Amino acid sequence: MADRDGFIWQDGKLVPWREATTHVLTHSLHYGLAVFEGVRAYNTASGTAIFRLAEHTQRLINSGKIYRMEIPFSKEELMEAQKEVVRANKLESCYLRPLAFYGSEKMGISTRGATVHVAIAAWPWGAYLGEEGLEKGIRIKTSSYSRHHVNVTMPRAKMSGSYANSILANLEATEDGYDEALLLDTQGFVAEGSGENLFVIKDDKIYEPEIASALTGITRDSVIQVAREFGYTVESRRMTRDDIYIADEAFFTGTAAEVTPIRELDNRTIGEGRRGPITAKIQARFFDIVNGRAPEYERWLTHV
Ligand code: PMP
Repeated sequence: MADRDGFIWQDGKLVPWREATTHVLTHSLHYGLAVFEGVRAYNTASGTAIFRLAEHTQRLINSGKIYRMEIPFSKEELMEAQKEVVRANKLESCYLRPLAFYGSEKMGISTRGATVHVAIAAWPWGAYLGEEGLEKGIRIKTSSYSRHHVNVTMPRAKMSGSYANSILANLEATEDGYDEALLLDTQGFVAEGSGENLFVIKDDKIYEPEIASALTGITRDSVIQVAREFGYTVESRRMTRDDIYIADEAFFTGTAAEVTPIRELDNRTIGEGRRGPITAKIQARFFDIVNGRAPEYERWLTHV
């Protein structure tokens, strides 16, 4: 990732990609406290547009607030910087990665005395769980790792250290031949994927697991609005893994994963074992919206 042409926005200015470096004594590298975002820009008929930029930027600031990290740039500055990165790298569609982290001024647990730095990179990134996954659905497995308890790490924050848990779960599932992991909370109820929220469809109703130990995904919010527009109710409820075994359809949502159907959990076929009709409808609408083909949702697009 480090050896390529292009520009990364670092603390207020664009720097050549290969020069966007930090010291090995960077506090965040040692203790894991950094906050970040994953954002996508799409190539619409009227030019490249970033999807829900304001909401992602606000979540970055909120993540900082939760962990007492004050990001030294305003929301407006951060939004402008993200647009600048897309323009500078001449990207038509891409994934953006803003990251706020503590510098190398000090060592020891406390972050007092460490300065906060911000970097924003952008690069082309196709379907996170594969093009085939988007079309045919993926196979997932319940993880042996639980999602963080709400008093261990705080789930409203997208905080780097939390992802050690996601990495363990994803490696375990993919090494066993599955596409992704499903994580339960510490009480055994369904939480989310390693980097995705979950939706389940049963008897024409849409359900999501209680959001307590899961990230409040922005794709999730978008999908809920789309589902309601189609007249579906979306109910949030405590869910067990076997609720999913007997569901008609299931899908993951995420900025990287977009809307990815799930065809199998723990070797049980879900519904017909392919992308279900309601999932297909929501997925198609989602791609119309992000690609600028749904004027009603123009408010979610920021042209660069
Ligand atoms: N849960 C986790 C743990 C994630 O990392 C992500 C990706 N940011 C999501 C859910 C989905 O969130 P969003 O739709 O905002 O990308």
